Amino acid sequence: MKRLQDRVAIITGASSGIGAAIARSFAREGANVIIAARRVERLSELVAEIEAEGGVAIAQATDVSKEDHVDRLFAVARDRFGKLDLLVNSAGIADHTPTDQLSLARFREIVDTNLVATFLCAREALRMMKPQKRGRIINIGSISAYSPRPNSIGYTSTKFAVDGMTRSLALDGRAHGITVSVLNPGSTVTELVPGMADRPLAESMPADHVAQIAVLMASLPDETCMLEALVLPIAQPFLGRG
Ligand code: NDP
Repeated sequence: MKRLQDRVAIITGASSGIGAAIARSFAREGANVIIAARRVERLSELVAEIEAEGGVAIAQATDVSKEDHVDRLFAVARDRFGKLDLLVNSAGIADHTPTDQLSLARFREIVDTNLVATFLCAREALRMMKPQKRGRIINIGSISAYSPRPNSIGYTSTKFAVDGMTRSLALDGRAHGITVSVLNPGSTVTELVPGMADRPLAESMPADHVAQIAVLMASLPDETCMLEALVLPIAQPFLGRG
């Protein structure tokens, strides 16, 4: 028996990196995946790949920072499947502009993409999941919420906030059978930060490894929630010296 058989999942940021890896893994475990991002061609390629393996995937062009786009994304789950079991908020952007050179417009773009969008999607998910009395939301946070990089004021602030948002949502969902988790990856080979693929393997992990934890979080029995997880490549300089 597949671990997510017949579940309906919305995955944002699924046109590349961690979101795409989670979409593939969820589909392999039997979930119907609704994949969202702005780059439609990328989404179409992933739909074809998942369908070629016998899975079910639907692409929905979405800018997650826009309320009407998010409304349309969740309408796909409502109209096509009549339910929503899982939401993964993986859409995100990073920026390493020194703080004294960072424009307000760019700061707001980071906040809108990494934080406001998480609120918009979680709100829609709660609206669908409350009457169902079940559902899971997984927010992709970051190791930056433990140990930031320099020149990351927007990114780091939003990832700390995603942690707080997760805890607030988890409380709101508790009485309704809805669990909310934060999955914090360490350095992962994706398109988020240029040059990541050039690092030694032990210092940056494949997105599939993060996806394995997302599958575990998503497939636990309804009564149980893995509230948070930190997934690290073993040589990430986070654990300490020596
Ligand atoms: P990628 O750059 O590979 O993927 C980011 C995804 O977010 C893309 O699919 C992009 O799609 C989507 N996205 C960005 N802005 C928007 C938007 N406005 N609307 C909809 N989709 C959007 O990076 P990752 O896979 O690494 O990033 C995924 C998550 O993982 C992020 O939240 C990131 O912070 C987190 N993370 C990553 C780490 C790493 O080392 N890679 C470490 C810790 C956390 P499109 O451009 O097509 O819209």
